[in-house]
Amino acid sequence: MNKVKPSFVVDLSMTMIMDYTSQNQDGQENDRQKLFCNCGSSQTYTQKIVRNIVINYDELTEDGESISSLTCVKCKKEYNKDNKLYLLPVDVDELYNVEYESKEDEKTITINKKKNFVKYSTSKDSITHKQVVDSLMICKKTNKISSNINKPFYSNFFEKNFDKDVKVNYNLDLTNVSILEEFFHYKSSINYYGIGNCNMMLNFLKKLTKDFKTFNKEIQFVNYTFSESGKIEEVSEGEYVSYFQNVPSGFGDGKIIRKKVVTGDYLVNLLSCYKLLFSVLSFEPSSTIILTKDYNFFKKWIESDFVCEPEIYISQNATNPNKIMETSLKFNKKGQIRASFKGAKEDVYNFKMSSTIYNSLRNVEDLSVLGKVYSFGILKKNEIEELIQKYENSKIYNLLMNIVNKKNNDILVSYKNIEHILKNDFYIKNKSGNNASSYSGDFLTIYIDTIRVIDLLNLKEKTIFKCKNYSSLKEMHDDYSARFNAMKDLKKAELYISAVEEFLELNCKIGDVEIEVVPTSEKLNLEGLKMKHCIYTYLNRICEKRYLAINLTHSITGERATAGFTRSGKVLKFEQLKGFYNSRATEEMIFCAQKFCNENNIKITSHFDLSVDKNRQRLMENQMTESDLEDLRNLKKENGEELSVEVKDKFLKISKKKNKTDTDKSFLKNIKNLFVF
Ligand SMILES: [Zn+2]
Repeated sequence: MNKVKPSFVVDLSMTMIMDYTSQNQDGQENDRQKLFCNCGSSQTYTQKIVRNIVINYDELTEDGESISSLTCVKCKKEYNKDNKLYLLPVDVDELYNVEYESKEDEKTITINKKKNFVKYSTSKDSITHKQVVDSLMICKKTNKISSNINKPFYSNFFEKNFDKDVKVNYNLDLTNVSILEEFFHYKSSINYYGIGNCNMMLNFLKKLTKDFKTFNKEIQFVNYTFSESGKIEEVSEGEYVSYFQNVPSGFGDGKIIRKKVVTGDYLVNLLSCYKLLFSVLSFEPSSTIILTKDYNFFKKWIESDFVCEPEIYISQNATNPNKIMETSLKFNKKGQIRASFKGAKEDVYNFKMSSTIYNSLRNVEDLSVLGKVYSFGILKKNEIEELIQKYENSKIYNLLMNIVNKKNNDILVSYKNIEHILKNDFYIKNKSGNNASSYSGDFLTIYIDTIRVIDLLNLKEKTIFKCKNYSSLKEMHDDYSARFNAMKDLKKAELYISAVEEFLELNCKIGDVEIEVVPTSEKLNLEGLKMKHCIYTYLNRICEKRYLAINLTHSITGERATAGFTRSGKVLKFEQLKGFYNSRATEEMIFCAQKFCNENNIKITSHFDLSVDKNRQRLMENQMTESDLEDLRNLKKENGEELSVEVKDKFLKISKKKNKTDTDKSFLKNIKNLFVF
């Protein structure tokens, strides 16, 4: 092939290329551009050139002086809108052409992608060319596929994932075929030679693909690429290259016409074919997903977090679609059991994917919804199946998605509720009509609020089932909420007592720390006053069974702290531990609070209130310091628990020696309280 090098013009003053003009710091630079004609001659200009004689930039700074054509003084060639130039920034590699080449020997088939770069170097005042070669290789014996792709990268995929790598070698399988997006990346300013050479490997893959005939029939890009008319002819026009193909005229007259190929479209089809055939080659049973769903489902699946490496499926004997999706749900890419569903109650590992459930999946997002619904304990497997048999899939999954996505959802809807919603088409019908996409989170908020207020009013759970449509639900919600609010103001004290009642059994003593559920709203008020913090503002939430306050008191030092827990039914979750004026509790107090949570199966997520920080501690009046507590404990040990008057005097001397002026008074008071003389 006769490849003529193009001509370049360099934006020396960096006043034209928008991305780079900011680097021109003083902004006062005069225009300086330099033409490097492919005849070998170069010449400098002091004017910008117009945008439409440049191939590779869509946005350029132009002004009234910009020239609309350049003529090389040596060879007299004119550059204009019909004969364009590449514009180069300074000291940056610019990719201007790509050549695909194919090679086959007895062991391998390889496609090499030669990337040709040009760079203007300021220090040398010249342009240099550089070639970087990427490759795709398939071993004919093992059918293993590998890729070797080098910087600089162009596709988003690589920018996101491999920015720091200079060279990337990968064995390709269905989990990482997106790497090919770099290999077949298209940019309109680049000249692509030898695209037709990419077909040799495709034809080899075709023979290895058991279900090729079905793919060819049902998947458009496969049909297009492998058909007779998919064959392309490369034509050089000066330094540019075009492709042509023979296709049916489109009039059904049996005539074949010659048509120019849109290079970018052709590369996208090649990319899709390679992604598909490589995926299926790396794990053959994956083609059953395409055969039972469609290519779109397959594509989203292999691009999602729900795809595992082939070995994982093989180790799970996942050869049919149900088992493949079940394995995808249970394991992450590398085969670790999925722990990604926060707040899960059920182990997703126990989930069994039946044909009924598999058939109901519309896309891979549904799989994720299913995983959450199951692991949150909202629905059991047979309940999911019952719903699928009775209701439209799109209605079910849209509702379930809304349920699992609801944030701070401390009341979970049950199977009965879900069935109630589906049966009565509870979603709000929007103007565009009664379709499943009009499910809105709003009705669900109202539904869940109604369940909550029914519980607060001590009405029967089934009360909500009286509602047969959205407006009767809204009516019930507004009515009961109004009643509850009126009652709440009158009867807060009573509501508080009944809300916390079932937790009083948590009261206990751990070490020297007394732990007590704050039992009444009066006590809650006092707690806030004593501790100078804001626990009282949690009153409403406690009355509504969404929060619980527990007091911790150290029986020797007098230290107090308040622990707050979010509440969902009987389940508590640690939220905060605050000392005097919201200060940090002492190490011993923190330890006891953690022990209390562990003993009562209360979930703790890592929290700064539970990390020891002496600088954030603050003593209450009458509170003994930690070091005094230690001294006292040592003394007690030495004296077999009983402290004589002499020992007490000795202890006071030690304490004074330590020169703790402001705690001395409180310490004395404590000592009086502690011992009976
Ligand atoms: Zn020239």
